[in-house]
Amino acid sequence: MFFDTHAHYDDPAFDNDRAEVLAGLKDHQISLVMNPGSNVASSHAAIQLAETYDFIYAAVGVHPHEAKDIADHDLNTLETLAAHTKVKAIGEIGLDYYYDHSPRDIQQLRFRQQMALAEQLRLPVIIHDREAHGDCFQIVREFPQVIGVYHCYSGSLEMAKQLLDLGWYLSFNGAITFKNARKSLEVISYMPMDRLMLETDAPYLSPVPFRGKRNDSRRIPLVAEAVSAIRHMSLEEVARVTTENGKHFFRIP
Ligand SMILES: [Zn+2]
Repeated sequence: MFFDTHAHYDDPAFDNDRAEVLAGLKDHQISLVMNPGSNVASSHAAIQLAETYDFIYAAVGVHPHEAKDIADHDLNTLETLAAHTKVKAIGEIGLDYYYDHSPRDIQQLRFRQQMALAEQLRLPVIIHDREAHGDCFQIVREFPQVIGVYHCYSGSLEMAKQLLDLGWYLSFNGAITFKNARKSLEVISYMPMDRLMLETDAPYLSPVPFRGKRNDSRRIPLVAEAVSAIRHMSLEEVARVTTENGKHFFRIP
């Protein structure tokens, strides 16, 4: 059984067949899904999905892309939403200097505010860090009480070691099956297995040989296979350990 710790089923890419895809997941050994929010509306939608499907859990938060579009009162809304029993994290939050859809100072401000919210609510965080490793890690270190996961980890082995020392988790998706994945594979072969989680980032980042197509949780075994090859573990063992890690991290009974 697999735990897809990062999938966006509220995304419009699933508008035509969401119920069909979700209904089929259990038959494909997907037992749990974490659906993070990317803005306030999407956080609401994530909770709605979690209310509809017993195997879906939600995180609430504003993605760095959307940082420019939120106001201070939206943080209060997130706080209210986070009280829902199926909300297990604040996310996804962080910095994205690759697309720069929001000005960097605004991204940093909203990131810090949501880290503070996670600290206040004692919830873990789901981090999005693209081409912003230095600033992102600096803000992470400003909140030593907060534990989180770097989703789609793309940093160096050196930074991974520091994050692991702080008790953080790293999660990986179809990007590790791409040709340029050397750095991630190095991190996966080094890191302790009890801090590694699997994800799809659906509808994005379909693993090879489906690269470029819409992704969903049914493709997570392809990510697990890549990990099992690097770690010389069976697919079943990778599935079991990463699912346990996800349940532990998100405090899912
Ligand atoms: Zn995401």
